[in-house]
Amino acid sequence: MLSFWYIQATADGPAAGSPPACSRTYPRRLPLQKLRSGVAKFRSEILSQKAAKFSELAEGQHPRVVLITCSDSRIDPSLLCQTDPGDLFVIRNAGNIVPPEGSGSGGEIATLEYAIKALQVPQILVCGHSKCGAMGAVMDPESAASLGHVCNWIEHAKPAHRDGSDLNTQLQDKIRHQIANLRTYDFIREAEADGRLTLHGWVYRFETGDVEQLDPETGTFERLGTET
Ligand SMILES: [Zn+2]
Repeated sequence: MLSFWYIQATADGPAAGSPPACSRTYPRRLPLQKLRSGVAKFRSEILSQKAAKFSELAEGQHPRVVLITCSDSRIDPSLLCQTDPGDLFVIRNAGNIVPPEGSGSGGEIATLEYAIKALQVPQILVCGHSKCGAMGAVMDPESAASLGHVCNWIEHAKPAHRDGSDLNTQLQDKIRHQIANLRTYDFIREAEADGRLTLHGWVYRFETGDVEQLDPETGTFERLGTET
């Protein structure tokens, strides 16, 4: 799975053990100076533009959506959704995976518990994406055979895998599966039953900007329009 190996590339080129070289250009290391320059611009320009917002946020956070998405660098939630600081409570990991109750994984669920029970965020959105390396590894485990932690992690997504189905179907199935995993937790089910919480699923195709949304009634995905 080329996309999976691609995300492991370093300034020195492809990761060890990667597939044969191809014409694809590998990314170079992002200079820390670029990040420092970004901080300087943020402080000198953006901070003053959003002074009221940051002053409000200093009093506390009241996010309206928990966004569970992939760590993939090509996904930029605030850019995609045009949100401000304080709008999204973001949980990111390889493959936007939600381990089910009893799996022993703690970080994602502790974060969700805080969001739902303490902050009372009323919506959870699980957002998968095209060309996801973790999804590729689920479909082709050999591609990640040398990455033991990754192999262990993607086990949580394997129940959604169906041999023979195409990548698009796999992506959609995985979103449905993560939503089902969310419902294995008492605090999620109780909040949903009380009408305090709704669960949503998206697939984002960063190449085109298209977003498909899961219809909870039909279980199918429909492409979002351009309405505001
Ligand atoms: Zn991904």
